[in-house]
Amino acid sequence: MKSLNSNILAIQPSATLAIAALAKQLAAQGRPVCDFAAGEPDFDTPAFIKDAAIAALREGKTKYTPVAGVPKLCEVIAAKLKRDNGLDYKPSQIVVSCGAKHSLALVFQTLLNPGDEVIIPAPYWLSYPEMVRIAGGVPVFITATSAADFKITPADIEQAATARTVALVINSPCNPTGTMYTPAELRALGETALRLGLTLISDEIYEKMVYDGNEQASMAAFSPALYANTITVNGMSKAYSMTGWRLGYTAAPEPFIKAMNALQSHTASAPNTFAQWGGVAAIDRGDDSIREMVAAFDARRRRIFDLMSAIPGVVCPRPTGAFYIFPDISALGLDSVTFARRLLEEHNVAVVPGVAFGADSCVRLSYACTLETIETGLARFRAFCASLT
Ligand SMILES: *Cc1c(COP(=O)(O)O)cnc(C)c1O
Repeated sequence: MKSLNSNILAIQPSATLAIAALAKQLAAQGRPVCDFAAGEPDFDTPAFIKDAAIAALREGKTKYTPVAGVPKLCEVIAAKLKRDNGLDYKPSQIVVSCGAKHSLALVFQTLLNPGDEVIIPAPYWLSYPEMVRIAGGVPVFITATSAADFKITPADIEQAATARTVALVINSPCNPTGTMYTPAELRALGETALRLGLTLISDEIYEKMVYDGNEQASMAAFSPALYANTITVNGMSKAYSMTGWRLGYTAAPEPFIKAMNALQSHTASAPNTFAQWGGVAAIDRGDDSIREMVAAFDARRRRIFDLMSAIPGVVCPRPTGAFYIFPDISALGLDSVTFARRLLEEHNVAVVPGVAFGADSCVRLSYACTLETIETGLARFRAFCASLT
């Protein structure tokens, strides 16, 4: 091959997928690895969702669907957005894509012109900056510290915005920090972004994983002006334990959706047909299964937070959403990659280095694992930290 695309050559492969693969490899060799690296729920997909997909297959639903997805799926998503989020989207304002990751990649490509800047609060989900670059844009970071509970402020946005800034990404609850904004904080961020003429990209994939009685709000629901300038992204992976099904969706004003559909028509055609029929069942009837999974996550969250926050030298904001905890380990004197590598090699505990999320002072642990893993893994984590002081 004579040449490769320079945009693509500059991409960093997903670090979370790499460390998760190494942990699995060590476990396969017989090492007793406590794996906190996974970025997906550990539950099986609920049976009624599988049954709906199997029925669709049996009924011969094996052909292409419309580009934006099965009309029935767009309908139940629109009804869900009204019911759960107070959002008025017509089915024609929804595009179903091959996972929310695919949705977001298409959103950035649909939105950005070369050199356009996108503000991304750090710590961030590690695909945002790469997606922006692939789309020809420039990621601009605002760093939120553990001392600030990993939250940015309206003043931060004002400072980061330039004449070239076109969008702000908000992910609440957040992967990797587990932090979520209050509705009032979210609204203040949104209104500041609006005043600066920015489009908001609201990644709400963890909306169902919310604890301590916190209230989840959707950016587009605050006002007609925010509705008109927000692109809402969500998906089935996290809420319904459907990561392998690859179903995500975008809701936005019609002109944006029309352009995004044109792009999807030439890149994916549409998501998998029988997976979409499973998605119809999930969105329509999945609420009870969500409640059970969230209760299990909550018990794990409390335990892992109690154990982590008691470790000398570790600073750990209390996570209130998603299924991650993001301790600041910088007082222990190692960068996050060295910390994670030694923790895995010497103590058989897999975590993801925070540098992958724009925070070299931290590591990410997913508590999508059993309580036993949390007990054993955190005892080892503590022993490793003690050995460093
Ligand atoms: C997991 C995740 C996604 C994408 O998930 P899909 O499986 O592609 O639907 C998007 N955003 C965040 C913050 C995530 O953690």
